[in-house]
Amino acid sequence: MLQQNNRLSFVRATARGFAGRCPNCGKGKLFRAFLKPIEQCACCSEAFGHIRADDGPAWLTILIVGHMVVPLLLVVERHTDWPEWAASSFWSTLVVVLVLVFLPRSKGAFIGAIWQTRGTGADDA
Ligand SMILES: [Zn+2]
Repeated sequence: MLQQNNRLSFVRATARGFAGRCPNCGKGKLFRAFLKPIEQCACCSEAFGHIRADDGPAWLTILIVGHMVVPLLLVVERHTDWPEWAASSFWSTLVVVLVLVFLPRSKGAFIGAIWQTRGTGADDA
């Protein structure tokens, strides 16, 4: 476990989590599957298995993807005249791809933030 006086900044721990890396050392992987975090870092042995991000990553992903897609959609739809089937196919595919890209990053960011603040993410903690 990391000592308190060496504790990383909130931003750095969150950024490391966002990158899918251990918030403590920045070297080990944070996930062993798409959204399944590791129990313990392979490099520094810091424990992450007790941290629960719950709905936070989904909320952050919706926030990020929504702010990317909606302005783009409004601009593109104003200047194009493509059929509805093409527009709905394109926009829904774009949203799914962006969600798949940002959801694990958002979860990593939440795990990094929760770890840095010494929380667990659980209601009873
Ligand atoms: Zn580590």
